[in-house]
Amino acid sequence: SREIRLASRPSGWPTEENFEPAEVELPAPAEGRILVRNLYMSVDPYMRGRMNEGESYMPPFEVGKALDGGAIGQVVESRAPGLAAGDLVLHGYGWREYAVMDARQARKIEEILGVPISAYLGVLGMPGLTAYVGLLDIAAFKEGDAVFVSGAAGAVGSLVGQIARRKGASRVVGSAGSQEKIAYLTGKLGFDAAFNYKTASVRKQLAQVAPDGIDVYFDNVGGDHLEAALDAFRPYGRTAMCGAISVYNAAEPVPGPSNLFLAVGKRLTLRGFLVGDHYDRMPDMIEEVGAWLRDGKITFEETVVDGLENAPKAFVDMLRGANIGKMVVRLVH
Ligand code: NDP
Repeated sequence: SREIRLASRPSGWPTEENFEPAEVELPAPAEGRILVRNLYMSVDPYMRGRMNEGESYMPPFEVGKALDGGAIGQVVESRAPGLAAGDLVLHGYGWREYAVMDARQARKIEEILGVPISAYLGVLGMPGLTAYVGLLDIAAFKEGDAVFVSGAAGAVGSLVGQIARRKGASRVVGSAGSQEKIAYLTGKLGFDAAFNYKTASVRKQLAQVAPDGIDVYFDNVGGDHLEAALDAFRPYGRTAMCGAISVYNAAEPVPGPSNLFLAVGKRLTLRGFLVGDHYDRMPDMIEEVGAWLRDGKITFEETVVDGLENAPKAFVDMLRGANIGKMVVRLVH
């Protein structure tokens, strides 16, 4: 079975040279274990943090060892009750063609008619839950709120905007890094307005698309986006601090928001969260978002890259914004 290993730790932007393919022989599954053939694997921004040395909120990847992450596979051989050959499972052993694991590390998934199974890595999976929990629980969204989301055309952001619309936001605006993405946001996703953060100042553009201010900011980006949101907030505004992708590849420390003091006068809430703490909300998310998907009330996009050997490139390209919606790697087709 082929796998992708971390060859070296990047400083600054990762390149494909930081990864290397390898061939391994897998043991037959022992009692209680299953052999899975992976069909799809995920590449996610948090993996960049795991390429660095030292403990963060997740253990670092080890140099010379296979990376891991979300994947969907089909059980080839099962020595565990409850799972049989042919079952589809979601698990954490991505970046490889086959994996042997304890059956308790795999969750059986059911196909939803008309929805590709890869959706369990995106809209019906970890990114979907991140959007759902971040907006509804962390930012405490309520009907009538004006919402701004950055990274709006990505896996998490595209769902945040659509959930806000479905739940009665007074205005939904977003930012992304290309004209194609802006057209996607204001077209297919129904955002009220969107802007390209690469073409002019975020502060100026946010003031233009949200002239009456915002109540909720869903922050995927950090940096100048957070600073602009602090300016745009109405009193009692709330930020779900989800990510800060604009700084993940910074080789030097980055300055904090110069206007953080606005949080005092405006009585703002800035609240960080990790989706891993909120899996109790997964059934609610699947029920609500799954129903919207079936009824065509929300939509999602995937950018699919073929072949395990192209996973490193897919990961680096995702960090640079090549994806619309969720970036996934298809291992078998
Ligand atoms: P996306 O699908 O949004 O892909 C990443 C996107 O980030 C790219 O497509 C690119 O789009 C954008 N980007 C890259 N560099 C910059 C930059 N300098 N400024 C602004 N945008 C940039 O990824 P996800 O939806 O999976 O993740 C979105 C965010 O959510 C990330 O910050 C991630 O770390 C965070 N996250 C946090 C979780 C938590 O538990 N707190 C869980 C899951 C995700 P563009 O073309 O628009 O630049």
